[in-house]
Amino acid sequence: MSSKFKRMDGFHRLESLWRIEYKAITMEPFLTRGVSDELKDEIGDLLGKTLPKPDLDAVPLIMDNKAVLTGNAVKGIFRHLLSAQLTHAGIKVCVQDVKVRPIEPGSQKQSEDKVKEMGRLTQCSPDNPCFICTWFGTASRQGALYFSFLKSVKDIEEILVEEPIPMVALAEDTNALIATRGMGRFALLAPLKENVEFRGWIKGENLSEEIIGAIKEVQDMSEKGFVQFGGFKTRGFGALRIEILKIEKYETAPFKLRKSYEGDELKSFLDECQRKYHSLLDRGSRS
Ligand SMILES: [Zn+2]
Repeated sequence: MSSKFKRMDGFHRLESLWRIEYKAITMEPFLTRGVSDELKDEIGDLLGKTLPKPDLDAVPLIMDNKAVLTGNAVKGIFRHLLSAQLTHAGIKVCVQDVKVRPIEPGSQKQSEDKVKEMGRLTQCSPDNPCFICTWFGTASRQGALYFSFLKSVKDIEEILVEEPIPMVALAEDTNALIATRGMGRFALLAPLKENVEFRGWIKGENLSEEIIGAIKEVQDMSEKGFVQFGGFKTRGFGALRIEILKIEKYETAPFKLRKSYEGDELKSFLDECQRKYHSLLDRGSRS
């Protein structure tokens, strides 16, 4: 019972607001899953080549001429990595009901056993959320973290690969758009290049040092290429290196900036938060 995390004040009382600004740089070719045919034609025109196939099978998602990744996709990666890490550390986090497929219709008990085998809890009740649900939310309640769109700094023309990448589509590749859409065994992908910079930010309510440390932890994993976004991950796409640039903490009554962390101050603040998060992981392994 010693693995208690610092509880949040609750949504009814807004003690602090946080703004975490970060950049993300592609370390590998990168593809979100743009799906419209119109977009594929546009990207095909941009590449301006005579393509060996009439159509591209996958192109990035584009908004205002920038490549984008939705906030929800970013949040999903953070949630997944931290849930898995906490589980390994012996800290119980839940599995949301939507993720648990009953083995047989009505066999609620069996799916609960399955969740326990995974070292997880069944979905938290709203009044007693686990660490992950506290910060990332549940199906029925928003969490305290909100992720913005990640948006490329440069226009799409400058960041697309010069030549589309041909790929052989494998049926067992569940990640591939091409297999599910039955486009045959040969696919043409138009990803972004390496070293493309995205910017985004994370908004937080009443954040604890532990959850800020957890976000720093994901940054550290990303530096070694372990954090992948977008589609075609099994083909070696999608590793992004994350770097937190600035953290602002705001007072709420009245609303005003209390502290802006940058440079060396940001670094020592993040190190301190990460120590708190590591100590939570530690308590998990000892309980
Ligand atoms: Zn939970």
